[in-house]
Amino acid sequence: MKRVAGYRCTICGKEYPFGPELMTCPSCGEKGILDIVYDYSEIKSVLSKESLKKDHDNSMWRYRALMPIKGEGLSDFLRIGWTPLYRSLRLGKQIGLDTLYIKDDGLNPTGSLKDRASGVAVAKAIELGYDTISCSSTGNAASSCAGSAARLGLKSVIFVPERAPLGKVAQLLIFGANVVSVKGDYRQTFELSKAAIEKWGFYNRNAGINPVMTEGKKTVALEIAEQLNWNPTDWVAISVGDGCTIGGVYNGFYDLLQLGMIERIPKILGVQSTGCCPFVDADHADGILKPTPENTLADSIAVGVPRNPVKAQRAVKNSGGTWIAVSDDEILDAMRLLGRTEGVFSEPAGVTATAGVKAAVASGIIKPHESVTVVSTGSGLKDVKNAMLAAGEPFKCEPDIKALEASGRIH
Ligand SMILES: *Cc1c(COP(=O)(O)O)cnc(C)c1O
Ligand SMILES: [Zn+2]
Repeated sequence: MKRVAGYRCTICGKEYPFGPELMTCPSCGEKGILDIVYDYSEIKSVLSKESLKKDHDNSMWRYRALMPIKGEGLSDFLRIGWTPLYRSLRLGKQIGLDTLYIKDDGLNPTGSLKDRASGVAVAKAIELGYDTISCSSTGNAASSCAGSAARLGLKSVIFVPERAPLGKVAQLLIFGANVVSVKGDYRQTFELSKAAIEKWGFYNRNAGINPVMTEGKKTVALEIAEQLNWNPTDWVAISVGDGCTIGGVYNGFYDLLQLGMIERIPKILGVQSTGCCPFVDADHADGILKPTPENTLADSIAVGVPRNPVKAQRAVKNSGGTWIAVSDDEILDAMRLLGRTEGVFSEPAGVTATAGVKAAVASGIIKPHESVTVVSTGSGLKDVKNAMLAAGEPFKCEPDIKALEASGRIH
């Protein structure tokens, strides 16, 4: 694979050749998260704005040249990526922005942005000859992993914390995963999965540490750029748990900048819930992350010990962006707001970035004339309980037109 030059450790900077496959840096251990290093001159010979114009593959695989996989058999996969980028018609105005776009990644096959990472993980697992893939997850990584694995005929062993929403657990069971619901928090779930993966030798899809994961997630940035005709917005806002997604967003724009396909990297706004915001806390202190309780209803970003701090902090710092936290009430409010103004139904973690944009505009971090893309990272149907908490109960009526009229609900 001439396109891939090797690995580079995000901590010590040491470089390693590509293949044998590495999970983390051999000298730094588990904290030594690796970057994939590309040979951009090789990539330029196969990928350009013109080649993409002619490519009718409307999935994330249109960017396969920028992924660390051989790229065979990709047409067998579920259709991942190439999700819509809507220009906001009402929400932007309502929160004080001239130009707002909404990237609806809840429309991926299993309903979240995680499908992008799981697709690459499953492709890699098959390439390497594994028959079982495993991960620990707050829910979406799990369901996306199980879905892509089912489609490609791989077995999956999935570890979820017992608080994972029912919708996500139902997906796992429907996709035939071997589900282990761990009586503990996400940190304990991660540790158990790590031990099991070591013991039984499964392919490891854990997003924090496996370096190919960010390379799938970065396709959301590649799409935003292409959908905006290579002129991305001033800001891109994303909700943050482990930090792998935001790291991927940066990597995607970084690749495009190296390839000369965009002129600047958007400022990246990292958004967390005040109930669990180790990145925001670190940003206000000395930059070092401390273990944090996981007290937020946005379960997908309730990550007290993020596994990918380096890539996440680099994304915000190098892009000139910033960190912001919003309360669970602001998240529920944003769920209603996004649904009512744009018709996009997002889960709590999925809409956290929207709540963050609203708060950032209100506090002057984002200026009204600056353009913004907000990513909705997961579908609201995954977590109906919290959707009802945001939206309330419906009006209950006798099956009688007079009763309906008398209620005064309809005019
Ligand atoms: C996983 C997830 C995130 C955050 O991604 P990280 O890589 O953990 O930072 C945000 N929103 C949703 C819906 C997710 O599933
Ligand atoms: Zn290292």
